Amino acid sequence: MDKPMTKAEWINWLEKAWDEAQKAAWSETPECKTDPRAPHGFDRNASHSADRYVCECEGWEPPKKEWVGLDPERMRNTTLQFNQGALWAERFLKEKNT
Ligand SMILES: [Zn+2]
Repeated sequence: MDKPMTKAEWINWLEKAWDEAQKAAWSETPECKTDPRAPHGFDRNASHSADRYVCECEGWEPPKKEWVGLDPERMRNTTLQFNQGALWAERFLKEKNT
């Protein structure tokens, strides 16, 4: 049997094992998102819970399409009209079915 490791050998072995573990963790890191708007950087919290390097772009989703060019007043009216239309459709369907 081998002679027991010295403290220096033990530390050396630990360091190598740590390096291997780090490399393995890195290789599991998914590719970055290619969207030019995606943010990139070290996501500390996510990396901590996933136990690997997590880029900020992983949790990032492209922003949803927003209503542009509609001022709040018109937006309100449109919503109101839509709701009235939905109410009307509901009443219409009920009458038809009774
Ligand atoms: Zn990224």
